Amino acid sequence: MGGGPKARAVRHAGRAGIEVSTGAEQDTGTKRQEAGGGSVAFVAVGSNLGDSSKIVIDVFRRLAELSQSPLLKSSLWQTAPVDCPPNSPPFVNAVAGLVTRAGETPDSLLAKLQALEKEFGRQPKKVLNEPRSLDLDLIAFGTEVRAMPQLTLPHPRAHQRRFVLQPLSEIAPDLVLPGQSKTVAELLSKVPEDICMRRLVERP
Ligand code: AMP
Repeated sequence: MGGGPKARAVRHAGRAGIEVSTGAEQDTGTKRQEAGGGSVAFVAVGSNLGDSSKIVIDVFRRLAELSQSPLLKSSLWQTAPVDCPPNSPPFVNAVAGLVTRAGETPDSLLAKLQALEKEFGRQPKKVLNEPRSLDLDLIAFGTEVRAMPQLTLPHPRAHQRRFVLQPLSEIAPDLVLPGQSKTVAELLSKVPEDICMRRLVERP
């Protein structure tokens, strides 16, 4: 995947005091947005099987353990399934923002997210995008850019998906994802409406 980190930087990734440095390290291509020694990472949370709202709230608690500062939590949104088998139930979607602990890498964080998916009952996939109790996608990890099947950063479809951008805009409206030129808020204003989308729980 092409494109290095954008010179335009994020000043505030959210209300809980995550401040991402805007200094020269980005312009020189260092692929980390330092924040108290860690990287700012955003995780999209989705569920459309089981007690999805409870699952998302419980997962927020677990993600908070991975963060060295208070977790940024979006609202919980009900959304229409996208690219899913017919008659798939609606999703509960949310996004969390965290500052990774010392030594965390994109791969180690992804491994923890995948372990959480299993812990919350995610079954091995039989049908593409079938209903699942928990789906965790790593949307961004600092300014990391990579395109590997096991981990693509930023997530390749995040900038096109209302179910990611809407919650992400609540916690990081000014974020410019690596490879993009528009902020999350600007991207959100361009994506198609989801008439089924509604807020279920305001920022828990
Ligand atoms: P999914 O069906 O969305 O859970 O797809 C998971 C697969 O996508 C796993 O094999 C991951 O290794 C891979 N993957 C690639 N990039 C990412 C990413 N940014 N976040 C989560 N999974 C990813």
